[in-house]
Amino acid sequence: MNTPQVSIVIPVYNEEAGLQALFDRLYPALDQLGTSYEVIFVDDGSRDRSAALLREKFDTRPDETRVVLLNGNFGQHLAIMAGFEHSRGEVIVTLDADLQNPPEEIPKLLAKISEGYDYVGSIRMARRDSRFRRWASRLLNSIRERTTRIKMTDQGCMLRAYSRSIIAAINSCREVNAFIPALAYTFARNPTEVEVRHEERTAGESKYSLYKLVRLNFDLMTGFSIAPLQMFSILGIFVSLASMATYVIVIGSRWLNSGSLWEGLRALFDRDILAFFLIGIMLFGLGLLGEYIGRIYEQVRARPRYLIAAVLEKTPADPE
Ligand code: UDP
Ligand code: MG
Repeated sequence: MNTPQVSIVIPVYNEEAGLQALFDRLYPALDQLGTSYEVIFVDDGSRDRSAALLREKFDTRPDETRVVLLNGNFGQHLAIMAGFEHSRGEVIVTLDADLQNPPEEIPKLLAKISEGYDYVGSIRMARRDSRFRRWASRLLNSIRERTTRIKMTDQGCMLRAYSRSIIAAINSCREVNAFIPALAYTFARNPTEVEVRHEERTAGESKYSLYKLVRLNFDLMTGFSIAPLQMFSILGIFVSLASMATYVIVIGSRWLNSGSLWEGLRALFDRDILAFFLIGIMLFGLGLLGEYIGRIYEQVRARPRYLIAAVLEKTPADPE
């Protein structure tokens, strides 16, 4: 079987109501690409008829369709990872199953890849989500911007294209709490973004409750930054320095007022100041623990530490 040029990876979780509409738009859009393609649907343990619908689709278009069925609900990002591991294309495009990302926009992403970019992100024009979701996204985008080194205008849009080398790097990561667009970004050499249309969900409802959204963003922040752990050491240094300064002032002024150094030193036993000093030391200790835990965490995560773009060398097998 020839390897296709383009792989489309789509996570599916309880989307029975919208899948037919997706098939009806996705396949014609892909047929028009003029390149070979495969669609990899990953069923993320749906409890409705999604898996059955995907199986039916596989029967009608077996050459272009592959279905990965997970045996439980592992979440959107791990479902996409499973799809990546089964993809064979040179370019891999991710897409949501609910048609919020129009499949007609795929050629726009592919065009950027052929211009030589290896990561094509996307920015949703006129986003069709509730006001609360838009506001929450803006807030989360700006937190990410400050805590990590990842530059993305719109982290929430899943319609993205990646080159094979990035997917190979992601496949070598063994982490369990991944945020795909950010992880891919760390491996990109030449990233870019395009604007894409955004539509309302065709059917069904969002699979993200507020709680799941918060969890997802913790994955994003803790997965790409150990700043939250390290904040304590800075806070600890600040608190203990401030209480030290207070000490000096209090001891000094009592000494001056009473004329006796002993009287001034008794301020040491004023519990409040001492407590602040000790709290400062404790915060610092906590932060120091954080520094170590952060490093252990980075080590345990075992991401590839670097990626080689090319090696120029003459191997013995190389003909003259
Ligand atoms: N999804 C998934 N597993 C989950 C939650 C969501 O595979 O646990 C899929 C879902 O079927 C959809 C995509 O991830 O294809 C995005 O989910 P959704 O549209 O609910 O998110 P939103 O657009 O509200 O952010
Ligand atoms: Mg959606």
